[in-house]
Amino acid sequence: MSDRYGVEVKLLAITPDAERLIESAGRLCWNTQEKTGTVPDRIQSWLAIGHESMIEHACASFSIRGSRAMTHELVRHRLASYSQRSQRYVRESEQSYVSPPELEVSHVASQVYRRAMESAWQAYRELLKHGMKPEVARYVLPNSCYTDIICTWNFRELRHIIALRTTPRALPEIREVALQLRDIMKEKAPQVFADF
Ligand SMILES: Cc1cc2nc3c(=O)[nH]c(=O)nc-3n(C[C@H](O)[C@H](O)[C@H](O)COP(=O)(O)OP(=O)(O)OC[C@H]3O[C@@H](n4cnc5c(N)ncnc54)[C@H](O)[C@@H]3O)c2cc1C
Repeated sequence: MSDRYGVEVKLLAITPDAERLIESAGRLCWNTQEKTGTVPDRIQSWLAIGHESMIEHACASFSIRGSRAMTHELVRHRLASYSQRSQRYVRESEQSYVSPPELEVSHVASQVYRRAMESAWQAYRELLKHGMKPEVARYVLPNSCYTDIICTWNFRELRHIIALRTTPRALPEIREVALQLRDIMKEKAPQVFADF
């Protein structure tokens, strides 16, 4: 699994026996619940015809670490619950930021980037020293700041996020996150995520 941005995706919790719950919810529609577990690709067949609402009954929570640029895009997905480390109440005492691997092809670009980071954190520390609250000082911090966020999505929203954010058009860092989400979900709920 590629991890060029240093992103971390950890599964914190998942609906127990999720696939059984989903299949029995789907089978309720046809009153065939007694057949739950007898047809291996039952859920995939429903998904293929757009009958998807039953996968909303299961959800998963993840702890995700990456840049604020990436989490800004992640939280655009609205069918979700999020808790993110605050830059208002928590001091960014560590100079901790993502360095996009694309910079590595140019020594000059890498230096420009490092200088910008040094300068931003220098200004941040000075503002704190002059009595500014973290919520004010943080205005000088860059999008590259590492942040931690806990995200809870139902399986339907997870499929949507994986589909949108693993394409070549997605921001490379969020693609790393989505690929890790995909791999975790394919392992934990193969009947729901088999087509990814
Ligand atoms: C490659 C890429 C480039 C992007 N570029 C930009 C950009 O330049 N600027 C920008 O602002 N955003 C951009 N976005 C963000 C994008 O517009 C969406 O806000 C984001 O991807 C969240 O997806 P969503 O709205 O489909 O889904 P979610 O919020 O995850 O919702 C899931 C689905 O629920 C339904 N839904 C949710 N809310 C509503 C609603 N209010 N009304 C009707 N249906 C709803 C829709 O079917 C939606 O697809 C980009 C996204 C991608 C993947």
